[in-house]
Amino acid sequence: MIPDSLRHHIQQTLDQEIVSAQRVSGGSINEAGKLTLSDGSEYFLKWNTTADPDMFTKEEKGLSLLKSANTGLRIPEVLVTGQTDSTGFLIQEFIIEGEKHSQSAIKFGQALANLHQQRARKFGLDHHNYIGRLPQSNTRHEDWISFFINERMKPQLQMAIDTGKLSSSVATHFKSMYNKLPNIFPDEEPSLLHGDLWGGNYFYDDSGQATIYDPAVYYGHREMELAFTHLFGGFSSRFYKAYKDVHPIEPEFDQRKDIYNLYPLLVHTNLFGGHYARQVETIAKQFL
Ligand code: ADP
Repeated sequence: MIPDSLRHHIQQTLDQEIVSAQRVSGGSINEAGKLTLSDGSEYFLKWNTTADPDMFTKEEKGLSLLKSANTGLRIPEVLVTGQTDSTGFLIQEFIIEGEKHSQSAIKFGQALANLHQQRARKFGLDHHNYIGRLPQSNTRHEDWISFFINERMKPQLQMAIDTGKLSSSVATHFKSMYNKLPNIFPDEEPSLLHGDLWGGNYFYDDSGQATIYDPAVYYGHREMELAFTHLFGGFSSRFYKAYKDVHPIEPEFDQRKDIYNLYPLLVHTNLFGGHYARQVETIAKQFL
């Protein structure tokens, strides 16, 4: 399952034999597996033979930032990241997925609200990282709208047009939307965000604690994260209630959700094309 050169490199790095490797499914970008080492310990391995190996170094940095926020969310501990030939990899603690307990979703909502109370002076981050395998620019801005337009919309929109996934005519709708943003987005201080928080990037561990992984962290408008959680089916109503009890949100969020979600939808258009491009067009066309 693991490429030979990677297996050899990991064994040398950890000074242990890999006695078994089982594929783990569920990821959308990388290959993943559960490793058992000669001392009986188990780890989660991700690797990618084609993407920029720096992706995993940035993932480790993101996980470490989330961990340092100490919010009641479980964040996997990274053992090592590295590269051999052009294959990047990340090894982290293997976390056993468990069942949701009666309080799990409530604690998850409260913990995410705590995460969002970690503030910075500017939107962005001190380094760029990745969303999926696409570069994510975190150049800092004082103002959310300027960050959203220049670091989130424009690079992804340009990539989608350049690769023929979206027609250049859609750019007119985006321009018109940019002009309306001051009346749409409420003011917020920059919050620490996981940055890619959909249903595939969390689970509850065997004690029922919410575990989040595979982040694309930055300091952003917290509604951006909440909108993202709604994109592919949404989280439970107890989760949202618990979040809002700790950290209320401004009225009429439902009417802004689609605009925030242009970012993940553009990213999905660039990664996978297809019907995501049509969803982007439908939202953008509201701004004729
Ligand atoms: P990708 O980068 O390809 O999207 P993910 O990081 O989302 O991959 O991981 C793929 C799947 O592996 C997840 O959906 C989850 O079920 C599982 N997983 C992720 N991290 C761990 C971990 N530390 N321990 C056990 N399983 C994990």
